[in-house]
Amino acid sequence: MASFRALVLREEGGKVAPRLEDVDEACLPEGEVTVAVEYSTLNYKDGMILQGIGRLVRAYPHVPGIDFAGSVERSESPAFKPGDKVVLTGWRVGEVQWGGFAEKARVKARHLVPLPDGLTTRLAMAIGTAGFTAMLALIALEGRGLQPGGEVLVTGAAGGVGGVAIALLAKLGYRVVASTGRAELKNYLEGLGATEIMDRYALSIAPTRPLDRERWDGAIDAVGGATLAMILTQLKYRASVAACGLAGGSDLPTSVIPFLLRGVNLLGIDSVMCPKEQRTEAWRRLAHDMPLDKLDAMTGEAKLSQVAELAAKILGGEVRGRTVIDVKS
Ligand code: NDP
Repeated sequence: MASFRALVLREEGGKVAPRLEDVDEACLPEGEVTVAVEYSTLNYKDGMILQGIGRLVRAYPHVPGIDFAGSVERSESPAFKPGDKVVLTGWRVGEVQWGGFAEKARVKARHLVPLPDGLTTRLAMAIGTAGFTAMLALIALEGRGLQPGGEVLVTGAAGGVGGVAIALLAKLGYRVVASTGRAELKNYLEGLGATEIMDRYALSIAPTRPLDRERWDGAIDAVGGATLAMILTQLKYRASVAACGLAGGSDLPTSVIPFLLRGVNLLGIDSVMCPKEQRTEAWRRLAHDMPLDKLDAMTGEAKLSQVAELAAKILGGEVRGRTVIDVKS
């Protein structure tokens, strides 16, 4: 039986230990489609899984990697044939099922999206779960009436969700204010299209007043906690914030006043169980709207052997933009 190289997590002495191993193909989980993975990426959730945080993984040994892109090798589904290029994000792959930090993955056919025209497998993973989430957030804001020309706040700006959100919004004609804790990345953020840089500490203290000055036509928030509560007090009348993440905390110290007096909307964004039609639409929009030069500027590349070290860095807010993992290197 053939084997493939994978990053394997094992529980050792109450801790999670990552190691590169050769794995027998017979160990792959059940699924109709076997994919030769070309690229995966590093996301915040991968960091949590590699550090054993949040009890996201059910059983060890485990192959992490919450997203991947590659070529179909074998398919028992009429939806795919060998050679088809595919993308996978979400569905708890890489958490409750083996994921993409490996040369091979086996998944359900309904969890795969055909690679949209205009993207390579590497570009799709430069976007990855983070970029896909940014697009879901944008689509949600558009659905609530956000129009080009408006001023949109992006928090966690130097991270993956933030970087893709800035580049997309700027390309579509929004004025983008980037909130970051890394003032030294001003040139990088302006290069992506941010028109103003804001210190994240200005938003990080729980609001003391139920309403603040109306400022934002919309917001994409990767931080949560007091930051999200503060954004709610600053949204313009009937404007919306898309809540994507919890890099700054999972609590929400807010009041109902912004909802009652300003009719603001708090839009929840979930990329994991998102229905197939919305996935396909989000990927179509990404292939159409994502400025590839900006994507290139925010993307670094790493080897499978570097993933464990990068996991601690992404949780520490030290990774800039997106990191593609070349699983063959
Ligand atoms: P990254 O680590 O790339 O980006 C997170 C950014 O948040 C950092 O770069 C930093 O930006 C900022 N940040 C980090 N720590 C703090 C802190 N303590 N307080 C305030 N800001 C902080 O992660 P991703 O972009 O991949 O993911 C962002 C968030 O979105 C995560 O919480 C992730 O779990 C979530 N997520 C949710 C998804 C969903 O389906 N809802 C899907 C994908 C991600 P800066 O340096 O600019 O301040």
